[in-house]
Amino acid sequence: MSSNQKYLKEMGLDAEWYFTQYNKNSGTTPTCLENISILRKKVMHCKICNLSSMRNNSVFGEGNLETDIMIIGEAPGREEDELGTPFVGRAGRLLDEILFYLRLDRNKIFITNTVKCRPPENRNPSNEEISACKGYLRDQINHIKPKLLILLGKVAANSILHKDMSMSDMRRKIFDKNEFNLPIFVLYHPAFILRSPLQKKSLWEDIKFLENYIENGYSTS
Ligand code: URA
Ligand code: SF4
Repeated sequence: MSSNQKYLKEMGLDAEWYFTQYNKNSGTTPTCLENISILRKKVMHCKICNLSSMRNNSVFGEGNLETDIMIIGEAPGREEDELGTPFVGRAGRLLDEILFYLRLDRNKIFITNTVKCRPPENRNPSNEEISACKGYLRDQINHIKPKLLILLGKVAANSILHKDMSMSDMRRKIFDKNEFNLPIFVLYHPAFILRSPLQKKSLWEDIKFLENYIENGYSTS
């Protein structure tokens, strides 16, 4: 075991994960990487809410720690719970397509969820579970410091914007008054599009808007 690995072990960190992230994020400051690794460890063992008793794995999130863009989904599903990785099922494949249209991919952004553990039968996470888990999301945002949050679907959007708006009210808008003081864009959840393929045209319109916004350096003008 190298002295680096020993040091990580003493800190209670998973050396393999740390080094994968380190290699993927060569320009990340060691402090950001260490903070994120410590946070991930906390999430792995978290028992703050009752979802902990039903999970196989918590799903911390993954991606580029130097990114400008953080994508926030709702909650892990069955496959995500089995693997501990976000958006690996069918919705994840559609998310990859969406990223492709935005000229992004998983190595350029960071993906996580409003709650890190799977709600039973994929029900929506409750308000209590969302608030119990909010601190982890806040810490992820504080350490990674993205410039834009993309929220997938109504549950993530309403839990972060603290509004009760329909998807059609939230489309193609930038919300910049929120608890994170960051511009927020709400996009259809890919699982919703899989259930409602007729909405694909609207998804496409929203992707175009978002693409422009990103290309203009996070400005609508
Ligand atoms: N749906 C989500 O909201 N998040 C995932 O990680 C997977 C499916
Ligand atoms: Fe902890 Fe969040 Fe999992 Fe609840 S959902 S047990 S708060 S990590």
